[in-house]
Amino acid sequence: MTTTPQSGLADNYGRVATDLRVSLTDRCNLRCTYCMPEEGLDWLAKPELLTDDEIVRLVSVAVTRLGVDEIRFTGGEPLLRRGLVGIVERTTSLQPRPQVSLTTNGIGLARQAEALRAAGLDRVNVSLDTIRQDTFQQLTRRDRLNDVLAGLAAAHAAGMAPVKVNAVLMRGVNDEHAPELLQYCLDHDYELRFIEQMPLDAQHGWDRSTMITADEILARLSEQFTLTPTDAATRGSAPAESFTVNGGPATVGIIASVTRPFCGDCDRVRLTADGQVRDCLFARKESDLRTALRAGADDDELAAAWRTAMRGKLPGHGIADPSFLQPVRPMSAIGG
Ligand code: SAM
Ligand code: SF4
Repeated sequence: MTTTPQSGLADNYGRVATDLRVSLTDRCNLRCTYCMPEEGLDWLAKPELLTDDEIVRLVSVAVTRLGVDEIRFTGGEPLLRRGLVGIVERTTSLQPRPQVSLTTNGIGLARQAEALRAAGLDRVNVSLDTIRQDTFQQLTRRDRLNDVLAGLAAAHAAGMAPVKVNAVLMRGVNDEHAPELLQYCLDHDYELRFIEQMPLDAQHGWDRSTMITADEILARLSEQFTLTPTDAATRGSAPAESFTVNGGPATVGIIASVTRPFCGDCDRVRLTADGQVRDCLFARKESDLRTALRAGADDDELAAAWRTAMRGKLPGHGIADPSFLQPVRPMSAIGG
């Protein structure tokens, strides 16, 4: 389907969203310090959560009526959602068939990778910030490194290539180990991307002056590897700046959401686990689709409401602006 600004999810700045991130739960079995507090976070109540059928219905509206061609399931931790395999299977059966991927912390992936692959899952991004057991425990507050590494290996064995790894660096915790993480990924044929830490943690602990910047990551990696920028012209709306490592073919990516924002090329839209459309990670406004859905709206009405929701998308996230305010929902509840 060709997406025109009339039929697709166009905003007032000429961007058209075709990449939908769907949060399947706000719950998680880790407590990464840059994302969640140790305890005290309120969970969405069960009746507020979209059912599996409701998720598939909204995804289907996005794919068949709004030109969305990429679906990424995320959370919280999406592997905690019992109906995940069925949701993936029904999504990959849609026509036109969207690309379907998963962002996960990898815990439980070893058990589910084959079934997810059989359901049509195309790709997986696994979050892994360190390969050191003690540092992993310090960052995630849980002793689950071996489960994550097993999940990565299972995804690779199941043929979900390329297996991507997402890493966030925290000063004084794992920043100095970035080269060792890259070497591990090179050795295991995983594609590593570093993500700059963003102000999206529930406890509002982000500090611009202490976050590790893309420039620092590059400098640190360049001490041990030869990094060469790949053609920027092929980047398109992809957020990662990509570099070949030691002449290639392996690459490493850096997602500089804070220091080099890519809002002008953004093609994303998000759906929370409780059925709210968010036009940006940093949006302070959401549009409720669940109420209309449960009141019996038909697909055309849902599509129209979704299009309207996108019109208010701001040109940029404004993190550098002194008046920037963090969104009320943390990353774990928005869907990263
Ligand atoms: N639980 C899954 C996981 O960790 O991959 C999916 C949800 S998680 C919110 C999605 C991604 O957001 C992860 O790669 C995580 O590292 C990243 N993330 C979480 N909080 C972040 C923050 N404050 N800044 C940058 N990335 C963050
Ligand atoms: Fe859980 Fe992912 Fe947040 Fe870590 S980043 S606490 S794994 S939702």
